[in-house]
Amino acid sequence: MANWPFTQGVHDLGNGLYGYVQPDGTWGWSNAGLVSSRGETLLVDTLMSVPLTRTMLEDFARVDGGAKIDKVVNTHANPDHFFGNGVVEDAEIIATAKTAEEMSGFDPKGLANLSANYEKMGEAGEFLFETMGRKFDFSGVDELTLPSRTFSDRLTLQVGDKTVELVDLGPAHTASDTIAWVPGDSVVFTGDLLFNEGHPVLWAGPMSRWIAACRYIEDLKPETVVPGHGPICEVDAVRNMRHYFEHLMQEARGRFEAGMPWREAARDIPMKEYAHWTDPERIVANVYSLYKEWDPDLEAAPPPVIFAEMNRYRKEPAHEGCGHAH
Ligand SMILES: [Zn+2]
Repeated sequence: MANWPFTQGVHDLGNGLYGYVQPDGTWGWSNAGLVSSRGETLLVDTLMSVPLTRTMLEDFARVDGGAKIDKVVNTHANPDHFFGNGVVEDAEIIATAKTAEEMSGFDPKGLANLSANYEKMGEAGEFLFETMGRKFDFSGVDELTLPSRTFSDRLTLQVGDKTVELVDLGPAHTASDTIAWVPGDSVVFTGDLLFNEGHPVLWAGPMSRWIAACRYIEDLKPETVVPGHGPICEVDAVRNMRHYFEHLMQEARGRFEAGMPWREAARDIPMKEYAHWTDPERIVANVYSLYKEWDPDLEAAPPPVIFAEMNRYRKEPAHEGCGHAH
């Protein structure tokens, strides 16, 4: 498993391609990318906040061609991949129609207002505030900057003399999850279809769809993979993510058939080689989503309920599967 050094900032992938990495890769600390060729640029995702996105653009401005951003693609509709869009509002901002629709449903002040409101929001509020609200400066996100160009399924872009293929492999992590594949350089920007050594979180699913997305990326045989979170890596990290899902499905299925409730199953499944991955509380969301798929009559647990459940999980001393206190 060859991870690149997990250091903050620009990583030169060679030949006009760059990754931008934010340790420690947990909630909200996302990665981005830049494709630069013959004076044209494509930015893959903005960051959680305006100040973080500004700093990233200053860093990119020091690399060849990085001083101006012509196009932006938002891989999916999570704030840590598009709340910084206002900084590049003069660029053409591209996303799938589904992602654009999901983005428009976010309250631009929702995270900023958490510091004032989270105590009224119970455990979900506490979780969002602890994991994201208190860590980021949301000033400058007064309204959402949404895509100016949408597509469905796939779109081929020309950036200078480079071909970039945008392919929607969702719904999986969200309703629509786009990768940016640069075949000429064998580099893929996966968005959050890959959390490298972090637990993924399944908001949309089904999980089988995410497994298929992993297989699609593996079949591209990329030399370099820029994940949505975690260090830049090789394709074996995508394979690991697929194995994690396959492990989870198998372990959850046995417990589902034995009648074990989903909350208990989430705490009982052995995490084995994944035990050191970050954000272990996401197992709660992932097991719930499997149970709901297998039993549509299962109680509804919308995101606020899942956030509250993850909050509880984080506060517990240690879990069977996890094997260490956190
Ligand atoms: Zn993310």
